[in-house]
Amino acid sequence: MVNQRSEIALKITNQYAKYHINQITTNRFTHTSFINALAPFKNNSKLTISTIGYSQEGRLIKSISFGKGKTNVLLWSQMHGNESTATRAILDLLQFLTSNDEFNSFRAELAKKLTLQFIPMLNPDGTERFQRRTATEIDMNRDAVQLQTPEGRLLMDVVDKFKPDIAFNLHDQRRFYNVKNTGVPSSISFLAPAYNQAREVNATRKRAMQLIAGMNQTLQNYIPDGVGLYDDAYSYRSFGDAIQAKGISTVLVESGWLPQDMEKEGVRKLNFTALLAAFDMISTNGFKDYSVKEYEAIPAIDDKLFDILIKNVCVNASSKSSVDIGVSRTEHLIGHPNYYSAGQINDLGDLASFYGFETIDAQKLTVVEGKAKAIQNLQNISTVSVKRLLKQGILFLITENIPLEKHVPFPINIVHPRKLVQAREIRFEEKANFLLIDKHKTIKYIILNGFVMKPNEINTSVNGLVLV
Ligand SMILES: [Zn+2]
Repeated sequence: MVNQRSEIALKITNQYAKYHINQITTNRFTHTSFINALAPFKNNSKLTISTIGYSQEGRLIKSISFGKGKTNVLLWSQMHGNESTATRAILDLLQFLTSNDEFNSFRAELAKKLTLQFIPMLNPDGTERFQRRTATEIDMNRDAVQLQTPEGRLLMDVVDKFKPDIAFNLHDQRRFYNVKNTGVPSSISFLAPAYNQAREVNATRKRAMQLIAGMNQTLQNYIPDGVGLYDDAYSYRSFGDAIQAKGISTVLVESGWLPQDMEKEGVRKLNFTALLAAFDMISTNGFKDYSVKEYEAIPAIDDKLFDILIKNVCVNASSKSSVDIGVSRTEHLIGHPNYYSAGQINDLGDLASFYGFETIDAQKLTVVEGKAKAIQNLQNISTVSVKRLLKQGILFLITENIPLEKHVPFPINIVHPRKLVQAREIRFEEKANFLLIDKHKTIKYIILNGFVMKPNEINTSVNGLVLV
């Protein structure tokens, strides 16, 4: 059953394509492209856009306000530079708030009851590097007390002057968080941060919990069982906890992952919906329909996901001993919006309580090292030849003419002769390149740099690594 409170957010989301800002559709985008995406809103009479200050390296930090209501709502995003999903959702919300269509009465109501202030991309220097920390290597979300970063000082200054009633602290979380005891990724995780060590619930925190319970119910329409609750250990240095302690109801939203959504466009849309539902509930006091109990009933998150989980694979055909292998990838910025991936064996052994975005039941298969072949000239490598080599189980090309880059744009690894033995080994915390074969020694699966492929289904968009 669709809850009454969710209705408007669901209706608007049905027309999301109208509000989606098409200029930015990737995870990795620059501060400049964000400022450019904001430019069309500059002279919009519904919004007030101002510069609240500058980052350590002099990049503009913008604030955008909407509405003239009594209830002040502050939202900030990307205090961690590589957590960009909510910044994009904020652009979509601005597009919605300034559009002219059948939802005008809802917009008018929001403008009458609320003053929304958005501070997207609070850490533009980190954004440029696509890193969590600021230019001075400080984790801004541990700087709420000392305020050593200019960006942290700007945020606290806005909090003290604007005096929000409600605050939203918008982040992204790592890909490998699941909803506890399930293989479902936590696509959105929430937290009403604690304001003291005892994690008590006062009126301020209760309101944040009620809002989250309502946002969760809305999201259940899209990601049933895909919402999780973040750990509420008190962290006085963090902004969420510190602002909650000031008597401002604070909601932490962590954008997680959806399968097959590497650029997080699906999670961006979930942010849009959840925040609209929150605006609706704040403007109508609809959050009061929800209880702390409903908040507490949201399952906890866990970090038990791998990109690939290979179950019960034989490590030695003669001994018949089998293990599970957990493989995950990390992404490394090449230059916005591009990145390369590096896959690694992150665990081995009994992984019965773990899950995979992809799971292989390898009960009758044996894991063996990939083969290697010497080559003279990398220039001769083509898509066709790579497909042919992989089919034969060749995962490494040996050459002394090593490229300067750490990766190659095709699915095979380039390896220096002195690195070959180590590169082929199937070991904990080593790169994930190996084969799964059946009892006839036929290759069933190829694991190439942490990606799964079948011999006749080679994904040529996968990158290999340069191993020296
Ligand atoms: Zn974060």
